[in-house]
Amino acid sequence: EIYVEHGKEDRCAWAMDSLKKSMRWDEEAFGREYDLDVFMIVAVSDFNMGAMENKGLNIFNARRVLADPQIATDADYERIESVVGHEYFHNWTGNRVTCRDWFQLSLKEGLTVFRDQQFSADMAGEPAARAVCRINDVKRLREVQFPEDAGPMAHPVRPDSYQQIDNFYTPTVYEKGAEVVRVLHTLLGEDTFRRGMDLYFERHDGQAVTCDDFVAAMAQASGRDLTQFGRWYAQAGTPRVTASGRYSAGEKRFELALIQTTPPTPGQENKSPLQIPLSMGLVDSAGRDMRLQLEGETDTDAATTRALELNQTTHTFTFVNVETKPVPSLNRGFSAPIRVDYDYDAQDLALLAQHDSDLVNRWDAGQRLALARLLAATDAFELDQPPKVDDLLHQVFAHLLADDTLAPAFRACAVSLPAESEIAEACAIVDPIAIRAARLWLRESLGQSLAERWRALYETQRSPEPYVPGVAAAGRRALRNTALAYLCATGVPEPLQLARLQLESADNMTDRVAALSALVSSNAPFKADILVHLARDWAHEPLLMNKWFELQATAIAHAGEVPVVDRVRVLMKHRGFAITNPNNVYALIVSFCASNPAEFHRSDGSGYAFWAEQVPALDRINPTVAARLARTLERWRHFTPDRQRLMRAALEQVAREPKLSANVREIVVKSLDAG
Ligand code: ASP
Ligand code: ZN
Repeated sequence: EIYVEHGKEDRCAWAMDSLKKSMRWDEEAFGREYDLDVFMIVAVSDFNMGAMENKGLNIFNARRVLADPQIATDADYERIESVVGHEYFHNWTGNRVTCRDWFQLSLKEGLTVFRDQQFSADMAGEPAARAVCRINDVKRLREVQFPEDAGPMAHPVRPDSYQQIDNFYTPTVYEKGAEVVRVLHTLLGEDTFRRGMDLYFERHDGQAVTCDDFVAAMAQASGRDLTQFGRWYAQAGTPRVTASGRYSAGEKRFELALIQTTPPTPGQENKSPLQIPLSMGLVDSAGRDMRLQLEGETDTDAATTRALELNQTTHTFTFVNVETKPVPSLNRGFSAPIRVDYDYDAQDLALLAQHDSDLVNRWDAGQRLALARLLAATDAFELDQPPKVDDLLHQVFAHLLADDTLAPAFRACAVSLPAESEIAEACAIVDPIAIRAARLWLRESLGQSLAERWRALYETQRSPEPYVPGVAAAGRRALRNTALAYLCATGVPEPLQLARLQLESADNMTDRVAALSALVSSNAPFKADILVHLARDWAHEPLLMNKWFELQATAIAHAGEVPVVDRVRVLMKHRGFAITNPNNVYALIVSFCASNPAEFHRSDGSGYAFWAEQVPALDRINPTVAARLARTLERWRHFTPDRQRLMRAALEQVAREPKLSANVREIVVKSLDAG
């Protein structure tokens, strides 16, 4: 049963469908049945989180329930399916077996995110679609969790202290927690992992337990000593594996040397080696997988992907009968939540990006190639020099786009550039304005050089059928809208008209939002009129107004336009906005501070002044959300010195507020104290 506000009953079909799929999946994949006669969901419009798994009656944020093609995008449909699944799966991992104390939050959250990721992959079905699911998990981890793990709020998956547990509903507890369960799944294999889960439920049904109890059940079922594995729960920081290869043509040997380190994090100076399953392959110069035979192995089985198990600081693996010099493909499928360094040259990356049989690494190689170009361009913009054009990346993207055997959804991922936050993570000192300039420049140059292809894709990926949600159709829309975005990034007027037409004539919100997003960040003279019109059309529907707010809060401002922060201030007075509504605050205020770095970090400090006003104002209304907003300054030490000074002053100003909640106080104090 799903309960919604009157008049919204016809927007529940997708959530209901997702719930039925979830119930069936948990029976099939984990042998878990539902235990009551009724299962209810209630959707509410004012809710801090996505949803909460209250037994028998899940409470949902309306945005994670309501969907029809006129209000929900493909991404919304996907998210609704995964959140409905997530909350339902909590019935076993969260409710029947729950946490002994809050330090164990990941016992239920990491495990349940792992379960909902497996569910989404199974619903996606075929291998390319599963790979796209995995790529999206990896992206999220890199864009949000890696930065957290490198900043003052870095904490282990099982935190060892907290002031406000609300502040620990974090990407580390959720997403890294899920990766840690996945590491176990990889180490033990599907069947043993399942036996471990069965034993966990059998032992602990009706109890409140710990992460150690979970690992103990897995150890018992597998007969393995998982003591070292337990460090994944205790050590903060993103582990780094530095790999180097040496090929001897005479001996036909390839030596792969691997060194693992985990950087110090606040309160944890020294780290011990972790147990890391490193899935890998070797690729020949034609892009084919080579057979992997380790020295000392007599019987060569034909495996072309193997999981190397690391448990020491250093390892060397020697492969024999390697006919030609290989390029290693490391951490296939993102088998561990780590950074991998290897001294690839651009040609190696181009080879992997075009041929790696592992689609996650194929995507990753293209990202590495693009990232190298983006970093070079960022440096150039900082020095006011023109960046250098690189044909190789253009060739690789052209090759990927032309490959019709690749699923459209995969092609869309493969030609998307790393996010600004990922580029920032790779910089020693962050200048968000140079990063944005670099990313816009590369988009423009790819938009121009591949213009013919983008135009062709825009036509061929068009669907004559009415909108249906679902992986295959969504993939075509994603590729087509990627093409539109690149065309619009060139700044010439003609594609902007295409976007306008799409906005006006599309039968679904995915295509409309994609068109609007391109227009809002363009210099189209008519964009203001369009926004005014849409506000009228969308005024009756808060979920649409949130999209309207968010697109403007995260927009690019062109020379001569008002800074986005001024626009945000005006929008806060809009009658569709209430600071008491968490979805409104996320859409307008948090998304500006968290997801529009070049505007938030304007060198005049106007973004920080805004932050310093909003955090205390919001804190008086909703400390949980205020603390989320407060976190958008925590990485202040990572930025240029002039920005550091301004950010520190803003943090100190908020810290001096007499009546701060414990939530916000914890964030600002830790941000000022820790490195
Ligand atoms: N436990 C919820 C979830 O992750 C979040 C919350 O506490 O509201 O599903
Ligand atoms: Zn949860």
